[in-house]
Amino acid sequence: MSTTPEHPEPSTLAPATIVVSAGRPARAQGGHINPSVPMNSTYVSRGVVTPDELSYARGDNDAWHPFEEALAALECGGGEPGEALVFSSGMAAIAAVFSLLPEGGTLVLPRHAYQAGMVLARQISERHGVTLRYVDIADTDAVVAALDGADLLLVESPTNPMLEVADLPAVLGAARAAGVRSVVDNTFATPLGQRPLEHGADVVLHSVTKYLAGHSDVVLGALVTRDAELAATLREHRTLHGAIAGPFEVWLALRGLRTLALRFERAQASAAVLARRLVEHPEVAEVRHPSLPGDPGHDRAKAQMTGFGAIIGVRPKGRAGSADPVGRADAVVDAVRLWLPATSLGGVESMLERRRRWGTEAQTVPEDLLRLSVGIEDVEDLWSDLDQALRTP
Ligand SMILES: *Cc1c(COP(=O)(O)O)cnc(C)c1O
Repeated sequence: MSTTPEHPEPSTLAPATIVVSAGRPARAQGGHINPSVPMNSTYVSRGVVTPDELSYARGDNDAWHPFEEALAALECGGGEPGEALVFSSGMAAIAAVFSLLPEGGTLVLPRHAYQAGMVLARQISERHGVTLRYVDIADTDAVVAALDGADLLLVESPTNPMLEVADLPAVLGAARAAGVRSVVDNTFATPLGQRPLEHGADVVLHSVTKYLAGHSDVVLGALVTRDAELAATLREHRTLHGAIAGPFEVWLALRGLRTLALRFERAQASAAVLARRLVEHPEVAEVRHPSLPGDPGHDRAKAQMTGFGAIIGVRPKGRAGSADPVGRADAVVDAVRLWLPATSLGGVESMLERRRRWGTEAQTVPEDLLRLSVGIEDVEDLWSDLDQALRTP
């Protein structure tokens, strides 16, 4: 009997194929095509355990491997292979990255970035004497100047929720030259939109909760790196802090990842249509989306991303005689019927929220900025609902 051929090497495949094919069990006659959900807290083991042997499920767990394999293949592309580590949440992954900061060290970070990450940075700064240098991540000169004597550079691009776009090759190259470790939060762009490791990042971070899992039903995070020593440090952090994911959540994330290419393609295309129409809408004062030719991040996004992402920033127009832009923005959120008023993003369902309703959001984010996460529904249905909500008195 002929042997079943093995899967093709992921590095030879396009991202839209990797999301479907990576992390599958070996091809065997009558074998499973999907990974199972192994439920184990421990494994049979005796004597001295080697690093690649399973022994206790907090240190390493075979339930994580298929997803980790697929994400590593996606972020590393055809280049040198790397390692992905799944975490219990995006915040757990951020905490692992911040643990790289020495006592009294210096962190360079975007003034606009995921807000809970910013809160954690402030807490670490207060408790461990870490200096925080906030930069406009789109201002390359300012980022490069801030790297002097720093220990870690955190990049988000596009940023949450302002959608600023960093010059990734320039800032990551400068960090490398200055001996500063760099981390890119790639949650908004996904590995289909950009691969920061190719631009010189040391670590890529994901809130898997968002696009990768894609169905608003799990909270998970991940880190990817090609640096084996760094991977070992981050893995040790995960083990010692117990920042680990449950088997079923990781299985759901891989199940969600299978359709990432289609979901992201549709969401990006609809976002570009909605952004263009919103610019023309009589009740809209400002639209932020890198697909718009007038957007500050347009040229850079065009040069370094595939597509422009599916998050839009919108500020409704204040009503004549009304000096209450916040009330106006809240009224739009209250009036949508198809769009979900909810925090989070990257799911199949479209969502919106006024970001400054969170007291921890950066004060430089306009109070009436609505963040729209475009899902995969019919674009005309999304438009009619948005249009009626914007026109609601
Ligand atoms: C949601 C989010 C996070 C945090 O991830 P959780 O999975 O919610 O812990 C980090 N970065 C960005 C850009 C996010 O949108």
